[in-house]
Amino acid sequence: TRIDIRRMTINIFSRLENVASQRNVSLRVKPEDLDAVWVMADQDRMEQVMLNLIENAIKYGNENGKVIVHFSETKKHVEISVRDNGPGIPQEHLNRIFERFYRVDKSRSKERGGTGLGLAIVKHIINAHDTKIAVLSKPDKGTTFSFKLEKALIDQQPEKETPDPAKSAVNS
Ligand code: ATP
Ligand code: MG
Repeated sequence: TRIDIRRMTINIFSRLENVASQRNVSLRVKPEDLDAVWVMADQDRMEQVMLNLIENAIKYGNENGKVIVHFSETKKHVEISVRDNGPGIPQEHLNRIFERFYRVDKSRSKERGGTGLGLAIVKHIINAHDTKIAVLSKPDKGTTFSFKLEKALIDQQPEKETPDPAKSAVNS
């Protein structure tokens, strides 16, 4: 389906407004003057991805910090990155954070709730979109998660969800 990921992001910002204001974190999209950003993605799944990444950035970033969702367009793709200016993720944990139930700082993560499933789901969904998620993190500078999606042409019709014949065959 063709979705405006910028608008989706702003929607998620307002859903997370309370969580963000509790930690006095400001939420921004960049560039600020951009209009819509059209990409091809599954609406519900991509909402889950953005919600997980932005929620993590708020929860594990700095108090009084900022979370920026940045869009950068090339001819055929849009790169989406979610950045915080928090404490970062130590190098030795970086390749494990996408595992189910993996949490970096057990005690600190515990007091912030959650199960450790968020990033495993994010990775699964991103891979199902035939793309990859990357993470870059620097101690005390922050963490950036990024991935690319196929651009949707402005005149491309929103696709209808087509039932998967393989699935219904299994169920019946
Ligand atoms: P859930 O998402 O299921 O509520 P969770 O947030 O702990 O729980 P993940 O989203 O998979 O689980 O994240 C795994 C761990 O990676 C977190 O517990 C946290 O330690 C670390 N982490 C994730 N995002 C960041 C970030 N932006 N900065 C620092 N650490 C992070
Ligand atoms: Mg999470």
